[in-house]
Amino acid sequence: MRKINRVLVTGGAGFIGSHLVRQLLNEEEVEQLLVVDKLTYAGSQSHLTVPLQDSRCQFVQGDICDRELMAGLFQEHPLDGIFHLAAETHVDRSLVDSSPFIRSNVEGTGNLLNLAHEHRIPFLHCSTDEVYGPIPSPEKATEKQALNPSSPYAVSKAAADMLCLSKHRSYGSDVVITRCTNNYGSRQFPEKLIPFFVQRALRDEPLPLYGNGLQIRDWIHVDDHCRGLIAAFRRGKSGEVFHFGGNCERTNIGLARSILTALRKPHTLIETVADRPGHDARYALDITKSQMWFGWLPEKRFPDAFPDIVRALSAELGATDI
Ligand code: NAD
Repeated sequence: MRKINRVLVTGGAGFIGSHLVRQLLNEEEVEQLLVVDKLTYAGSQSHLTVPLQDSRCQFVQGDICDRELMAGLFQEHPLDGIFHLAAETHVDRSLVDSSPFIRSNVEGTGNLLNLAHEHRIPFLHCSTDEVYGPIPSPEKATEKQALNPSSPYAVSKAAADMLCLSKHRSYGSDVVITRCTNNYGSRQFPEKLIPFFVQRALRDEPLPLYGNGLQIRDWIHVDDHCRGLIAAFRRGKSGEVFHFGGNCERTNIGLARSILTALRKPHTLIETVADRPGHDARYALDITKSQMWFGWLPEKRFPDAFPDIVRALSAELGATDI
């Protein structure tokens, strides 16, 4: 089992990273937790206000592509492990300009992998179901499924996954890859579907839904994902991929209706707009391997957890009237 006494979390000021930092600090074994984040538009140090009150947690604003900075941090901080979450993450932005995605997600991951190899530090890469492209119903992708990414975002994550596997194959580097379905939770930047729709609904503005709204995503509570990341880091076999999913498939239009219902707003706010180019119809992951290896299963049920998350997002996004 890998140690988590002294760990680095990249992208810890983002949505999932800020939840992972909290879960790691709940682990007694953790003695030092270093967060490195560039603080792009998607990250905020305010996401770490509570964790930074813990003397074990330290924050450095920095770019994972900055070799000198990262090499200095690796020299300064002996580490037992790296949870690599830093990335450009918004598909729509990647369709407009892929450059930041190639830079942060591919070059940045390559830079960290070189340092992890040099210092012999186990490395977890947090990846996505989007690397497989569309999966026809009722199939689910296993970890053996061929990669077939559609958007530049998905391409950059697939390339980063391949860099990780290549480092393992070429040098025996200790690398684990996780791929997860769509997360829901607090502190997500309001360009992503759920917080974006919550914000629009609170302002009584139309919810722009791509195409027919029948695209299917599987939704997992961010806490379940973070529990999986820690389990995979501790016990995942090196050079292998592990899946996490919520066993909760929803169409985008169904999700929009759930948001409006939770906010007691009329469903007539939904407005269809031209579809996103290359919009994948469905993602779905088979999570049997993670269940077998770690006894991991999603615990939070969407119907129970989702209304609370909508309320939390409403509070964050400044609602006064619910
Ligand atoms: P996010 O956009 O909320 O956060 C990303 C964080 O990375 C931000 O804080 C940003 O400032 C930081 N960052 C970006 N480029 C950086 C760089 N060059 N150097 C340092 N920091 C940088 O994203 P998220 O939703 O929290 O996703 C985290 C990870 O999980 C990503 O790798 C993403 O691909 C993966 N993932 C996300 C989901 C999801 O549903 N959100 C699902 C599966 C996998």
